[in-house]
Parts: sequence; C-alpha cells; structure tokens
Amino acid sequence: MMKYVVAKLDIGAIKCDTVGCGWRDDTVHVDDYPAWLNKLCPNCGGNLLTQKDYDGVQIMLRVVAGYNRWCNRLLPAFILRWMVAKAVRNEFDMKGDGKLRRKK
Ligand SMILES: [Zn+2]
Repeated sequence: MMKYVVAKLDIGAIKCDTVGCGWRDDTVHVDDYPAWLNKLCPNCGGNLLTQKDYDGVQIMLRVVAGYNRWCNRLLPAFILRWMVAKAVRNEFDMKGDGKLRRKK
C-alpha cells in the first residue's frame, strides 16, 4: 500500500539567538541536533540549542509522524493525493524558549 506524506517537517540548521550575533550553520541536519544541545556559540558564547527548543522539535516530529499515520490509515487515496497536492509551506523559527513563531 502506498504511503502518502501529507505533512512534512523540513527542520535543519543551527543559529545563534543572541540579538546582533548572526552566527549560523545551515549544514546541520535535525538528526544532528542531540550533538548541538546546549552548545555555545563560537562567536558570542550564547546557547545555540536550548533544551526547550530541542524538546519542541521532538514533539513536532512525533505529532507530524502520528498525523501521517492517522491519515494513511483512515482516508481514501484520492483524498490523500489531494492533500499532498494542496500542501502548503510554512516557515517557523525558534528562539530558545521552545515556542514556534511563523516567519513573516
Ligand atoms: Zn552568537
């Protein structure tokens, strides 16, 4: 049976949240986040990935995986195809407090 990816998370990159610092590494993948937990910014010494943001990412990954499983189990294929085709893209940002903010 075909699996439809109705919702997808594209999480990556590490950036410093200190105002005015601007340090970032776009090569970091979400699978590498455990290694970045509470690491300090090489530029200013700020925290690059707080426990709150890390926990927030893990929750999102679980929610999206559960949503995809639920949709694939319960919805007919033509609805799933429509959902995949209509997929909207939203970009979010985290700043150390575990909260998601939609990028403008
Ligand atoms: Zn910094």
